[in-house]
Amino acid sequence: MTIPETMRPTPKAGVLDIEAYVPGKSAAPAGVAKVHKLSSNENPLGASPAAIEAVRNVAGRLEFYPDGAATRLREAIGAAHGLNPANIVCSNGSDEVIGLLAQAYLAPGDEGIFTEHGFLVYRIYIQAAGAVPVVASETNETADVDAILEKVTPRTKIVFLANPNNPTGTYIPFDEVKRLHAGLPKHVLLVLDAAYAEYVRRNDYEAGIEMVSSYENVVMTRTFSKIHGLGGMRIGWAYCPPHIADVLNRIRGPFNVNAAAIEAGVAAMRDRGHLERTVEHNERWLGWLSEELARLGLRVTPSVGNFVLIHFPEDRVHSAAAADDYLTARGFILRRVAGYGFPNALRMTVGTEEANRGVVAALTEFLKN
Ligand SMILES: *Cc1c(COP(=O)(O)O)cnc(C)c1O
Repeated sequence: MTIPETMRPTPKAGVLDIEAYVPGKSAAPAGVAKVHKLSSNENPLGASPAAIEAVRNVAGRLEFYPDGAATRLREAIGAAHGLNPANIVCSNGSDEVIGLLAQAYLAPGDEGIFTEHGFLVYRIYIQAAGAVPVVASETNETADVDAILEKVTPRTKIVFLANPNNPTGTYIPFDEVKRLHAGLPKHVLLVLDAAYAEYVRRNDYEAGIEMVSSYENVVMTRTFSKIHGLGGMRIGWAYCPPHIADVLNRIRGPFNVNAAAIEAGVAAMRDRGHLERTVEHNERWLGWLSEELARLGLRVTPSVGNFVLIHFPEDRVHSAAAADDYLTARGFILRRVAGYGFPNALRMTVGTEEANRGVVAALTEFLKN
């Protein structure tokens, strides 16, 4: 017998419209000798050895609460980036701080804008706040400033821009970000999600630090999950104008960043060498992968991140789904991106040399059949 819905707790309007986030797979079929996880944009070099050591050292004092203000972590971030730690708010992954911004600035009926192939976490948090997700179309799989500005209404409260974006790997130059900001009403919050900023090697790119310092309505979010190789630790941060840092500090969990994460983050921030080696590795293999995949006749969206979006032929035998099955059976786990509006593409994280060469070799065989 089912109990009528009115007799049990029901979530507020909008919650049941949310489609839960589907993370990248991590398992291959039994019997595969070696698994290469290339589905979540993790660092193929792993975490900084200093961060690993720092986490080991925390193990002996797990009974103690962490510093709720994550002071040392904010200081380490501030020192590395030349920022005032008072304007930094740390979080349990940058997903958390993105959610807190939505929760704080979107009321039911308000609108939050993101782009056509934008990071899906924005939609989830906009809906969780009871607000309306508004999608701006892209041009050439790239955010389009005019299309975003056209979507602004009196109900718009937030614009989320991943720059570079995931899963496309495309970016818009700083001039375009400034043009977007200039076109927004001053009460609209512009969130610049710079999760992949460290990977970008372009003179016309800026993550957004200067804009946050100059305006009251811009926030930049960053993560330790990608270049720092600390996805499992869940550490993100936002650089904000003081009035926004104040808001976030009121609504965040009092101990939202755990003790191991704080120590790992401090050590990772200080390890410039590991970051530079990661950037070098990525530069080399991003270029190699883009060329080799193009040589196979596959279209690759031009990426400035640590991943590539690979488009497959329309025929059923060589579709993205077929390629995914073929690669998975050989231990190469890529990311399906149908939910991002790419039913016939796969996203591949730039991996180790072995993984990159292995995927290209496997796809060469796959396309021959
Ligand atoms: C991976 C990613 C994040 C970071 O997520 P965390 O919660 O910090 O692990 C944020 N934004 C984008 C666009 C991403 O791809």
